[in-house]
Formats: sequence, structure tokens, C-alpha cells
Amino acid sequence: MFRRFRPGLPGLKLTRFLARPGQDENKNRHMSRTVQVPIPSEGQSPLVFPDRCVSCGAPKQAESTLLVNRLVQRGQKQVQISARYQAPHCQRCAKSTKAVFLAGCIPFVLGLLLVGGITFFVVAFGAAQAGLDNYGQPNNTNSLVLGAAVGLVAGLIGGFLFEVVARVVLLPIFGRALFQAPLLAAQLLNDSDYVAGLSAKPDRDGRNLQLTFANDEIAREFEALNTALPGSPV
Ligand SMILES: [Zn+2]
Repeated sequence: MFRRFRPGLPGLKLTRFLARPGQDENKNRHMSRTVQVPIPSEGQSPLVFPDRCVSCGAPKQAESTLLVNRLVQRGQKQVQISARYQAPHCQRCAKSTKAVFLAGCIPFVLGLLLVGGITFFVVAFGAAQAGLDNYGQPNNTNSLVLGAAVGLVAGLIGGFLFEVVARVVLLPIFGRALFQAPLLAAQLLNDSDYVAGLSAKPDRDGRNLQLTFANDEIAREFEALNTALPGSPV
């Protein structure tokens, strides 16, 4: 009985958990760092990235595209902002970025179509049976409208649940890379875009972009490379 309260035990467990065997301990020391850069009006990025992987710091072997497309409100009008960045990656992180994207996207779309589709039919058919279409104008389609609305909400929830389940199932295969990637649903809610080691989030009026580097060392190199740009890193 008394043993349970032995001091220091939870701390010991935590340390073990953080330093899993076989992992590069240097990696765990890095903290994320956010750098704010202006979004150029013409959409093309003048940003210079270090010549190494934004995720693990290995030499650059590939590039992953970070796409920022957003409709923002500037004063009275809506403006479409669009920017494309080529984030340097090593072969391994580029591959894992693609795999992680598919591992989230495929179950999300499946869940959306499956749950949304079934809900649409059930609700629309049920409402039609219940006589919803007999109200209002003749030949109106209240049941279809209701079915589509409920189906869409259920589909989004379904997509989210499918993605969560797929993530739990795939975690042992993908490991760290998948664990660190935000859920698609969360990305939609949070307005951010993600590649391994780097995520981008435009501010409210779409003039600046917040780039969050998982590796603060790379973030500092990025800042040093881009200080020459007008209005660049703060
Ligand atoms: Zn890498």
C-alpha cells in the first residue's frame, strides 16, 4: 500500500517515455519557433529556406509544397490570397509528408462520403415518408434540403472520426511523423497548412504569414537568410 506513494516514481516514468530508445536525443531538445513573414501580393514566395530538411535537419534532397489558399476579409471586400512555398526536405521527410497527408485525407474523405451519404438518404427518405414534402409549394423538396444539411454535418463528423480511428491504427506504422501532424479537421478549423516540420497560418487580413518551425535551429537559419527582405522577420 505504502509503496504507491513512493516519491519520484511518476517523474521516472515520464523521463522514460520522453527518451524512447533508438531516438535521436538531439531532436527532442529542439523547440518549435514561429517566424512571421509578409505574404507577397503576387503570391509567389521570395523566401529563402536553408539548404537542409526543415523537419530533421538532414541535407536537402527534395521539396514539399506548402500551399496557402485563403479568402480573407480586408475592409469591406473579400480577397483571395494564395501563396506557394517549396519547403526543403530530405527524401525520408518528403515521403512521410505525402504518406501522412494520404493517411489523413483518405479516411477523412471516406468517412465524409460514407457517413454523409447514408445520413442523407436516411434523413431525406425518412422526412419524405413523414410527409415533410406535403408542406408549402407543391412538388417542393424539403426532404432533400433537410437530408443534405444533416448529411453534411454528419459527414464532417464521420470524416473526423474515421481520421482519428485511422490515425490510431496507423500510428505504430508511421510513428512520430503521424503523431506530430495535426488532424485535417483541426487544420480546417485552425486555418493552417502543414508539411513535416513546418506549418503555415495566415493572419486575419492575410498580410502576414506565421511559419512555425518544429526545429528552432532551422527557424533561426531561416530568419538569418531572410533578414534582407523588406519587412521580413520580426
Ligand atoms: Zn528530414
